[in-house]
Amino acid sequence: MKLLLIAGHGAGDPGATATYAGKRYREADETRDLAARLASELKKRYEITVTQFDPAKNAYTELQRGRSLAASFSGCDYALELHFNASGVSAADGRRKGTECYIPVGGEAGPAAALCAALQPLGFPNRGVRHKNFAVISAAKRAGVPAALLEVCFLDDPDDCSLWLQNKEAVAAAIADGLCRAFSLPLRQPRTSREIVQTAAGLSDGTMDYLASYRWGKELLDKLAAAITR
Ligand SMILES: [Zn+2]
Repeated sequence: MKLLLIAGHGAGDPGATATYAGKRYREADETRDLAARLASELKKRYEITVTQFDPAKNAYTELQRGRSLAASFSGCDYALELHFNASGVSAADGRRKGTECYIPVGGEAGPAAALCAALQPLGFPNRGVRHKNFAVISAAKRAGVPAALLEVCFLDDPDDCSLWLQNKEAVAAAIADGLCRAFSLPLRQPRTSREIVQTAAGLSDGTMDYLASYRWGKELLDKLAAAITR
């Protein structure tokens, strides 16, 4: 499974903005923060390859300028574009607005529904799956890659945004869990000492066989692996 993560907005486009307690929050920063957390959460726990669309770029404006995202979509099984919503009505009324997830018309709703459902236990109401041909997810679909645009919560709703700001790790973990359920991602298996040493040192299979055949090879590999992962 290869996942492409796309952080919405950026490259001069802040997306939604909100100011709480004198601090200004920009959607473009929050999507990049979440993309980084989600990528590391997924790679830590699941057998999955995660690539991130260049955070210095804005996928939407790339398309508007006539540039192709085909190279980014190439070989991917799913593309997830991260956004934070805006309603223009920002009252701290103790009610959260919640999560919604867009897919292109005719797209696969299953993973999008799993993402909305995964965030619900954290306290984000499930606004459900919506169908709209947003530019980036439509381009993904045309490239043969199922895609969704997740509106995690409303950046300009104080009740939504404070829940996100205080639970960033939990939000990333919940989205990872949703993807796991949608795609039956296998759990990452603990690596053997041999794998740790081979990967860290870039050694060939032949060299590893030679090391392992050394009289105290197993102890050596265990010590090296422990030193590498310390
Ligand atoms: Zn947005």
